[in-house]
Amino acid sequence: MRKFKNNNRPRLVMRIYNCSYCGRPIAPGTGFMYVKSDGTIMRFCSRKCFISMKLGRNPRRLAWIRKAQK
Ligand SMILES: [Zn+2]
Repeated sequence: MRKFKNNNRPRLVMRIYNCSYCGRPIAPGTGFMYVKSDGTIMRFCSRKCFISMKLGRNPRRLAWIRKAQK
């Protein structure tokens, strides 16, 4: 039987991802992940972002997105 040191044990770390559409950080436990048929993973903070992406809106043209202000 192999013994593992405490340092080698995998730690539970919550990763904070950024929204694929608006770029805001997504709080753990909220938002959802969308996997396309070609395998690309997209994470969204809200349904508003998801629907905007589905409709093909350019995030740079929307006023409520921080990317547009840059
Ligand atoms: Zn978003």
